[in-house]
Amino acid sequence: MAPHKIVLRFTPTTSDQPIIYHLVKDYDLVVNIVKAKINPHLEGTMVLDLVGERYEEGIAYLRSQGITVHPLTQEVVRNHDRCTNCGACTGHCPAAALYMERPSMEVQFNGDRCVLCLQCVKVCPVRAMEVRI
Ligand code: SF4
Ligand code: SF4
Repeated sequence: MAPHKIVLRFTPTTSDQPIIYHLVKDYDLVVNIVKAKINPHLEGTMVLDLVGERYEEGIAYLRSQGITVHPLTQEVVRNHDRCTNCGACTGHCPAAALYMERPSMEVQFNGDRCVLCLQCVKVCPVRAMEVRI
């Protein structure tokens, strides 16, 4: 059985729940946390590999807890031709995937750290951060 790769998005009221414990104990799922950026009482994002016979029940449980669940079918990329290195995105990236390099003051993007929260897509004034499906 191939694992399902999914993205979970948490609100401030859902970010401190022991969901991994429940997925493993109550639904017999095997969970691999690929990436996560969650601060208690803040919004957060987690990328998981999830496998098990009761996968659909586990997903229903997550949604019943107010957690948004999407299949991981997209990635965020930077359009270098558009980016002006303004730095606006760096203060919004919760995973430090976007950061200002010094002393060049060029904005760098480390896609391996990205947790697909899409904050940079919303705040970039020139739409240099793009979603690819
Ligand atoms: S989607 Fe953008 S803001 Fe969110 S983690 Fe990835 S690079 Fe950072
Ligand atoms: S906000 Fe957009 S233009 Fe500014 S540094 Fe980030 S990607 Fe580049």
